[in-house]
Amino acid sequence: MRLKLLFIFQLFLFAGFMTSQLSCQQSISPQQIQKPQNMAFKLPDLPYAYNALEPHIDAMTMEIHYSRHHAAYTNNLNAAIAGTNLEGKTIEELMQVAGSNTAVRNNGGGFWNHNFFWSVMSPTGGGEPAGALGAAITARFGSFDEFKKQFSQAAVSRFGSGWAWLGVKADGSLMICSTPNQDNPLMDIAPDKCTPILGLDVWEHAYYLKYQNKRPDYISAFFNVINWQQVSEYYAAVGGK
Ligand code: MN
Repeated sequence: MRLKLLFIFQLFLFAGFMTSQLSCQQSISPQQIQKPQNMAFKLPDLPYAYNALEPHIDAMTMEIHYSRHHAAYTNNLNAAIAGTNLEGKTIEELMQVAGSNTAVRNNGGGFWNHNFFWSVMSPTGGGEPAGALGAAITARFGSFDEFKKQFSQAAVSRFGSGWAWLGVKADGSLMICSTPNQDNPLMDIAPDKCTPILGLDVWEHAYYLKYQNKRPDYISAFFNVINWQQVSEYYAAVGGK
């Protein structure tokens, strides 16, 4: 008798389970079940093929860097803000809470920095900037070569992981700086605030497969793929003259 009752009870449980499964299938698609409803930030398309920047940046590094590292920052950022009052804010707005939110600082920074990094490189890049930006670099640093030297020095001397930047300060002037980890000069905690117009990732994941410990060689190679046209557009967009 007792066994029979238990069996009937289990039948009830099973029926209830099946009913809930069916009703789920009727009203919610599998895609909606597998991920949160509000995926605020999406991994942007890479603007060129993984091998497009060879021989300066190798295809395997690009593939891992984009499809694993950048994707992880994107997913982790979404997870960090899901269900909080930060949902719905722009990535630029999130940079203003980096100081009080470590997950946003690391993953929001990683998301913004890599979006930006892909955009300032191109298979047809390299050379020197023309126009207003070229003139501003010469005016600020004395020559393009001197700019290259100072930018490279900022990238070489960043201890551990981080970034080197060329940015525009609030007064419109150019500046070079570097930041640790996934910090950037837009963050509320940045000691050197500016709007970046060029950035270089000097984390080992950005160069180790091809260059191993030779970070200076990677930095030198980066100059062959800088998309100066895009950098000039960023310069113009922040009021650079
Ligand atoms: Mn990176």
